[in-house]
Amino acid sequence: MSDSLHSLQRTLCIIKPDAVKKKVQGGIIQKILDAGFNIRGMKMIRLDESAARKFYEVHKERPFYGELVSFMTSGPVVVIALEKENAVADYRKLIGATDPAEAEEGTIRKIFADSKSENAVHGSDSEENGKIETGFFFTDKELI
Ligand code: ATP
Ligand code: MG
Repeated sequence: MSDSLHSLQRTLCIIKPDAVKKKVQGGIIQKILDAGFNIRGMKMIRLDESAARKFYEVHKERPFYGELVSFMTSGPVVVIALEKENAVADYRKLIGATDPAEAEEGTIRKIFADSKSENAVHGSDSEENGKIETGFFFTDKELI
């Protein structure tokens, strides 16, 4: 039986359009690598409206859903499949709180994000979603 706290997990990072526009992809990726994550897949894409709506479907009843979809389609993003022991929780800790104003010093959102809506990166929120979201953007063959 696997201990979910210590097993090898996958989690999905999206470097969001605000961070790509600011050309801070390199700094964000370096912080992720320095924290011990392995990159299994990475590509730059532009989400269309239907993909963005589907990816964030869990938020479809929230008042910010329309704004979130239009932000996520506003420019290219970098999607990265990450792997590491305890990847989901460790990556959430590395990116910090949703609102950069509340994020801890040294976290990716504290350093690179401007606001709660334009917050530089996405991170999966559970082991199950780490698998689902990685599969949303990558086929098994694309994961090295
Ligand atoms: P993500 O899922 O992108 O990693 P998160 O898990 O920290 O972020 P969620 O609650 O899942 O936060 O919200 C998804 C995204 O929706 C946020 O990252 C942010 O871009 C946007 N968002 C969340 N709350 C708000 C809000 N109150 N106003 C505007 N945008 C918001
Ligand atoms: Mg979330």
